[in-house]
Amino acid sequence: MDDAKPKLERPMLETLTRLLSFARPYRRRVLLVLVLMLVTSASALVAPALVRQAINRGLGEQDESALIGFSVAFLAVLIIQAIGLRVQLYNMVWIGQHAIMDVRQGLFYKYLDLNLSYFDHNRVGDLMARVTEDSNSLQNFITWAVVNTISSSFTLIGIIALLLVFDWQLALLTFTILPAMIGLTFWWRRNANQRYRAVREAVGVVSATLQESLAGMRIVQAFVREYREEQRFREVSTTELNAALSADKLASIFMPGIDLISQVGVAIVLGFGGVRVLDGEMSAGTLVAFLLYLNMFFDPIRDLAMRLDQFQEAAAAGERILNVLDTQPDIADTPGARELPRIKGRVEFRGVSFHYTKPERALTDAPPPVSAVRGGNGASPPTEAEEANVLHDISLTVSPGQTVALVGHTGAGKSTLVRLLGRFYEAQSGQILFDGHDITQVTMKSLRDQMAWVPQDTGLFATTIKENLRYGRLDATDEEIEAAARATGAHDFIALLAKGYDTDVEEGGSRLSTGQRQLISFTRALLADPAIIILDEATSSVDTVTELQMQAALGRLLEGRTAFVIAHRLSTIVRADQVIVLDHGRIIERGTHEELLAARGHYYDLYMTQLQGGLATA
Ligand code: ADP
Repeated sequence: MDDAKPKLERPMLETLTRLLSFARPYRRRVLLVLVLMLVTSASALVAPALVRQAINRGLGEQDESALIGFSVAFLAVLIIQAIGLRVQLYNMVWIGQHAIMDVRQGLFYKYLDLNLSYFDHNRVGDLMARVTEDSNSLQNFITWAVVNTISSSFTLIGIIALLLVFDWQLALLTFTILPAMIGLTFWWRRNANQRYRAVREAVGVVSATLQESLAGMRIVQAFVREYREEQRFREVSTTELNAALSADKLASIFMPGIDLISQVGVAIVLGFGGVRVLDGEMSAGTLVAFLLYLNMFFDPIRDLAMRLDQFQEAAAAGERILNVLDTQPDIADTPGARELPRIKGRVEFRGVSFHYTKPERALTDAPPPVSAVRGGNGASPPTEAEEANVLHDISLTVSPGQTVALVGHTGAGKSTLVRLLGRFYEAQSGQILFDGHDITQVTMKSLRDQMAWVPQDTGLFATTIKENLRYGRLDATDEEIEAAARATGAHDFIALLAKGYDTDVEEGGSRLSTGQRQLISFTRALLADPAIIILDEATSSVDTVTELQMQAALGRLLEGRTAFVIAHRLSTIVRADQVIVLDHGRIIERGTHEELLAARGHYYDLYMTQLQGGLATA
């Protein structure tokens, strides 16, 4: 039966059952909806039977009071149905909206919880689509699919039963149109699924393309690639257009086809039923009831056919959502992890080797075998043909308060090394210790709470300076924020801004300079008051005055803290207690700037070719 085109990885029934469980917190409302659904469906079924009685008893037997009585009953039933439907529909939507908000929330919490490696391997557009489009499909499913499937089935069976009771011969004759109806529906189902899926995929590509172009607008315009982007967007939009038209074409065959078949049914009832009435074998009331039921007959069939689609769609969307929700971060607190007490800042690498691994599950990939899911810690299973190590056997001891400058060519492994410190990735062998505590044995929160990051791009959010600073410590008072800003010297320029600390960092007009943004980033880190600072130094050169300001701020920030600096400025390197020269993931030289210069080795070469240039701009 399940010849569905979308290749589902999970058993559909299981997926749908799990999706329905999102409505579980609202089960009392669900129960109310189900009861109302029975009432409204039953009212719909009873109404034509009342018309039949009104005609047969009222007109047939010339009984005026019966005519009025049944008419009033008919009206009453319809009013009950209308009121019931109103309450039922509102509650269905209410349940769907609430359930889907829970799903969105759940997805977002999951994203926050997943390791950075997950984001290396999944596009932002895809991750967003789970929360937007897929959640919408799911909402449709929860809101409409189940209740309508039950009510349509109930109505359909009710009508068939009533028609058979009223006149089984005419009923059987009427049912002869069913094969055509079911055949057309079946055809529709087979093809529409496929085409609507193509539409959804095309929409996904359009939004991913759009997102990419918008995010990279600076590059697009700088390289004058507007025309190329336009072409690309037109291409994906055209694919979407064609997919949508092809799906609509199918719909334009199905809908009128079903209507035509239902009109054939009306013709049959009118023709044969009419003859039976003339022959006195059937009452006129029954004929009218047949016509009324016939009108209702095809709605549930059409509805059921559409629902099949919705089930498919929900299963596919739900599966993508469940894939996210079921992803376990490979790096998590080890069972029994302790809080890392406030550390002094001694950091030790002991024979650390590391290589990046393929994700266990990207959104679009098939799920991994259970055995491949790594625990929180420990050796990973041998992955594909020994992936190349990015860091080899790194051993390094840093005393509290020392600054370590990491230097080396691009791709040498500097960023990777500092990422390991925050356990954003986990070393396959070796140990990293903070004040003697193995970082895999302490809680991730207590570990990261003692570190602050100053990324190269400053990593500011599009909000006010104050809110950006407070990100460093959420409970900081305005006074504490200002004190930190004074310490780094950021206060000097902030005080000159018209809106001061309430200036939006993205605001036009008062756009902040690179140096100013960096001072804010420093201040944010200072406010966090961490034992360890990770600083990815900006490569962009700034004017001499700013450079001096930055150096002073940096001095305040690093004072008394252990710091790992991915160093690009000679001034930083000169001041560092240790300079570590990395090459292809190995430490090839270490010592102070003077020692390394005197050694005339790799560092000396690097200094001659790159760093001196840095000096010139510093
Ligand atoms: P550096 O900071 O010294 O420029 P990186 O630590 O960024 O060097 O990179 C070291 C190596 O690891 C490079 O070969 C790079 O391509 C690779 N690498 C960096 N980040 C990732 C990642 N997220 N996934 C896979 N490989 C990566």
